[in-house]
Amino acid sequence: MPTEPLEHVDVLIVGAGLSGVGAACRLQKSAPEKSVLILEAREEIGGTWDLFRYPGVRSDSDMFTLGYSFRPWPAAEAIADGPSILDYVRDTAREHGVERRIRFGQRAFRAEWSSANARWTVHARRGETGETVRMSCAFLYCCTGYYSYEEGYSPSFPGSERFAGEIVHPQHWPEQLDYAGKRVVVIGSGATAVTLVPAMAETAQHVTMLQRSPTYVVSLPSRDPIAVAMRGRLPAKAAYAAMRWKNAALTLLSFNLSRRAPKLMRKLLRRGVASQLPVGFDVDTHFNPTYNPWQQRMCLVPDGDLFKTVSDGRASIVTDRIETFTESGLKLASGAELDAEIVVTATGLNLLLLGGLELAIDGRTVDPASTVGYKGMMLAGVPNMAFTLGYTNASWTLKADLVAEYVCRLLKHMDERECVSCAPLGPDSSAQTEPFIDLRSGYVLRSIEVLPKQGVTAPWRLHQNYFRDLRLLKRGPVDDHMSFTRRVAARPANGAAAHPAGGAGAAPGNGAAAPPGNGAVAPAGNGAAGHLASEAIAPVVVETYGPAPAKSARG
Ligand SMILES: Cc1cc2nc3c(=O)[nH]c(=O)nc-3n(C[C@H](O)[C@H](O)[C@H](O)COP(=O)(O)OP(=O)(O)OC[C@H]3O[C@@H](n4cnc5c(N)ncnc54)[C@H](O)[C@@H]3O)c2cc1C
Repeated sequence: MPTEPLEHVDVLIVGAGLSGVGAACRLQKSAPEKSVLILEAREEIGGTWDLFRYPGVRSDSDMFTLGYSFRPWPAAEAIADGPSILDYVRDTAREHGVERRIRFGQRAFRAEWSSANARWTVHARRGETGETVRMSCAFLYCCTGYYSYEEGYSPSFPGSERFAGEIVHPQHWPEQLDYAGKRVVVIGSGATAVTLVPAMAETAQHVTMLQRSPTYVVSLPSRDPIAVAMRGRLPAKAAYAAMRWKNAALTLLSFNLSRRAPKLMRKLLRRGVASQLPVGFDVDTHFNPTYNPWQQRMCLVPDGDLFKTVSDGRASIVTDRIETFTESGLKLASGAELDAEIVVTATGLNLLLLGGLELAIDGRTVDPASTVGYKGMMLAGVPNMAFTLGYTNASWTLKADLVAEYVCRLLKHMDERECVSCAPLGPDSSAQTEPFIDLRSGYVLRSIEVLPKQGVTAPWRLHQNYFRDLRLLKRGPVDDHMSFTRRVAARPANGAAAHPAGGAGAAPGNGAAAPPGNGAVAPAGNGAAGHLASEAIAPVVVETYGPAPAKSARG
């Protein structure tokens, strides 16, 4: 076993994307005394917004809610292009001095919790050399996004090997790809496909969007007229806050209306699409999905750019199945053939939770699928660990901001009580559980078996509802359904009183073990030995937070 002393920090963030940078900014402000480091697998800040380089890459939700609550989005555009979002994340990191806290080129692959020492040992691999490095932390904060950076999802298409043209996945866009004057087929119907089609159609000879089944597509103005009006009249921060509230509320309204009155919503969406396409366009085949609105994420197109491109003939939409690739394109189940020199497989992502980080507690590897989420940001029985997973029906950052604030409050709570660890206790073992993510999108369904579960009541429910989470995460207690442990001095032989010592991030010692909760991962062993003894303080259980009856707590 290696014996060299490990570098230790109070909080180790994994991932320097939008969430990791935001989390570091918050932690620095809330707890400047804490040491904070970020491990980043890549050589750049920005995550998604640095990785994706395909033509037209942009946000598909508005920047007033995708931006951080603490730093107003500086532009008038509500829908922003990828490079502008990357600049925003980089500028935030620079302004808040977060850059110097990032260790680039280190992919964390295993984190081991020791109850005896109340700390995580994190193993990471250096990109350049493949060398393994280790460090320890009191609190592990995973801001690793939700998909694999290694490879996008590409189903295997028969005959693809004989296609004479080029096949490209948007996650690995070749910088030099020249599509000017060429015939392009984009396979897919999601946010990436509807972005690529108008962008490539600007110079391509023709672009065909080939979809197996349609998606709901909504057009919104790229510049929000209310934001433009407010910019001149209100101070920047106030205007930004107002826009954030307005857009969060409108998105939730649309989601709730879709869940409660799907037929009405479907009608409204269909009408919106039909009004932007030529008379006689087959809206029902190409834009009327079989599922209800918001059972999958909706696609947003700024200023109806997709519809304009289709209307003026530079692009077309085909709803069919691929039978096989041919030398010159694709043969479809209907018998039709599509000629192409370039085929873009906008077929999605591979979901990956915690950036592939394997967790172990006191030597036992945690199976994420056997755990239950707590407030959508911790796992039952997993001590001193939080993660960011944004909303599926609203901007990611709305949730990321709330989680970061919650982690700051939790750490403060622990410090005030001299606690060294905390772990959600887990719901009753008989409690009903459901898949963690309530979406029928392909990337979710492909990974459902390996994801944690969620309960049907708070705090085990993953709310896809910003306003409910505001109450739960920003204003609610941080000690409900949680066990806390603290380190106390051992009773000397004469029986003198014990003295607490240490806090979250205190020097290593023997000590605290998180007591196992019901249905939670049970850490094995309690390392009380040596000069310091451990004592699990009585779990602080606040039975009911917020809406008490299980039914009303449903998200
Ligand atoms: C093309 C595209 C467009 C999108 N548009 C929107 C949108 O408009 N609105 C919206 O709300 N959401 C959108 N999303 C979702 C988007 O991922 C989030 O908005 C947001 O960027 C996530 O930020 P993040 O920092 O949590 O994750 P990421 O951006 O994925 O960053 C995660 C970072 O963690 C690093 N990392 C991962 N695993 C490890 C590891 N094991 N060790 C070390 N480092 C690791 C990665 O290298 C990366 O830098 C989009 C996603 C894609 C792919």
